[in-house]
Amino acid sequence: MKAFISAYELKAIPLYKASALASWNANITGTNEDYAISEKASFEYARIFTDTKAFAGLKEIKETQAMKDPLLIRQLDLLYNGYLGGQVDTTLIQEQIKMETEISKKYANFRVTLNGKQIPDNEVESILRTSTSSKELEAVWTGSKEIGPVVAADIIKLVKHRNKIAQKIGFNNFHEMSLKLSGQDPAEVTKIFDELDSLTRNNFAGLKGEIDTYFAKRFKIAATQLRPWHYQNRYFQEAPEIYTVNFDKYYEKQDPVKLASTYYNGIGLNVDAILAKSDLYEKPGKNQHAFCTDIDRSGDVRTLDNIRPDSYWMNTILHELGHGVYSYYNDKDLPFILRDAAHTFTTEAIANMFGRLATNPQWMLNMGVIDTKESEKITDDSRKALRLQMLVFSRWAQVMYRFEKSMYENPDQNLNQLWWNMVEKYQLLAKPEGRDMPDWATKIHVALYPCYYHNYLLGELLASQLYNYITTNVSKNQSFVGEKAVGDYLKEKVFIPGARYYWNDMIEKATGEKLTAKYYAKQFVQ
Ligand SMILES: [Zn+2]
Repeated sequence: MKAFISAYELKAIPLYKASALASWNANITGTNEDYAISEKASFEYARIFTDTKAFAGLKEIKETQAMKDPLLIRQLDLLYNGYLGGQVDTTLIQEQIKMETEISKKYANFRVTLNGKQIPDNEVESILRTSTSSKELEAVWTGSKEIGPVVAADIIKLVKHRNKIAQKIGFNNFHEMSLKLSGQDPAEVTKIFDELDSLTRNNFAGLKGEIDTYFAKRFKIAATQLRPWHYQNRYFQEAPEIYTVNFDKYYEKQDPVKLASTYYNGIGLNVDAILAKSDLYEKPGKNQHAFCTDIDRSGDVRTLDNIRPDSYWMNTILHELGHGVYSYYNDKDLPFILRDAAHTFTTEAIANMFGRLATNPQWMLNMGVIDTKESEKITDDSRKALRLQMLVFSRWAQVMYRFEKSMYENPDQNLNQLWWNMVEKYQLLAKPEGRDMPDWATKIHVALYPCYYHNYLLGELLASQLYNYITTNVSKNQSFVGEKAVGDYLKEKVFIPGARYYWNDMIEKATGEKLTAKYYAKQFVQ
């Protein structure tokens, strides 16, 4: 095993780094040349895992079960999953990529037609948020679902193709494969989703009632006449704006980068080295979103952002630096393979926990963004708005997780019906009379980012679990401002362990419990 790891590191470390750097460059310049270099570099890195001889060697080691050293066993598990995923016939993979590319072009070229005119998605969202005409809302919502029939048959074909790939390497279906290769047991994830469902069901129903009352009044119709187009979003995945706090105005004259760095440095997580390597502001050609990347797992950590002085970017820079400190403070003595987050959702949890502070009045007060009077004024509505956002998102994530799981288990069932059964059950939306369309196929993640959505929710659950643990046991200060003990705790219990432990063991060591929905419910349901 040791010999295997040495040989692996020799090959993988330079290719990993080259691939991370090339991707970074491409995202900054946006040029075709840089994207071509990046594509080639990530292909070179991925190719390591297609080595059949290496995989056979790993399999042999695994089957002997002779190793006792926990660090070696953990590295074996991660490598084994990585190589297993690479053992698929390359023609099948090429076919899959071709199918995905075709579908992605169809999504990219689709525009909603309203009154005979094509409109961009930004306008769709804006109409859904601001229009008070049920007729217009229905037209734009229905228009946005027209992509469904265009891609549905292609997606079903792709789903069956992905299942074929999964079955060739010993899994029942692609959903099971995706989760297991990333170190998740589908039964364990479903159990957490069930727990969350039962903890949020009644409270969500109550809030949904409040939302319905609000919209019935706004649209001057009976609550029973509300349909999916009345909820300000194509999927009801974000909270409708029924409370009135305008956080943007507090950040107009602030410098989000300075606030974030003062904050992180104040809790003993120094972000100067990360910021020095980062690319923080808008530029032509540059990726317009935000991400954080660990270039070498040896301290070169960077974040790409497009910062403006508003609450969205305050949240985002806190979020990305959360990923940043997780990577930056990893244990340089750990082997390369383990110098990583315990799982992608555990780093998302840290990022979310810090990102949420941007709209936390206590944090804003402690950071000097607002005064006591303003803080008191907005505390109640801020709390309600965050609670609504979390609950609405959690019910939507239930739909996504359960739909995908069931779809991969049986792609030949009536998917249109399955989708609406889930939407009605978990989001409490009323299906439009007689609707029988592939509305599930309108959500791009179902086709192109498969079996990943649940991680967003698991990240939120862990953010709440860690937050509860810290505010109960480490520091009573709800904003952590100036609390070095919080940074010390995170370093010791989350960052330094890296991927040394299976994610649920890390969580148990850090909080005394396995991942649970309890604290998310405690924070947002009561
Ligand atoms: Zn993130």
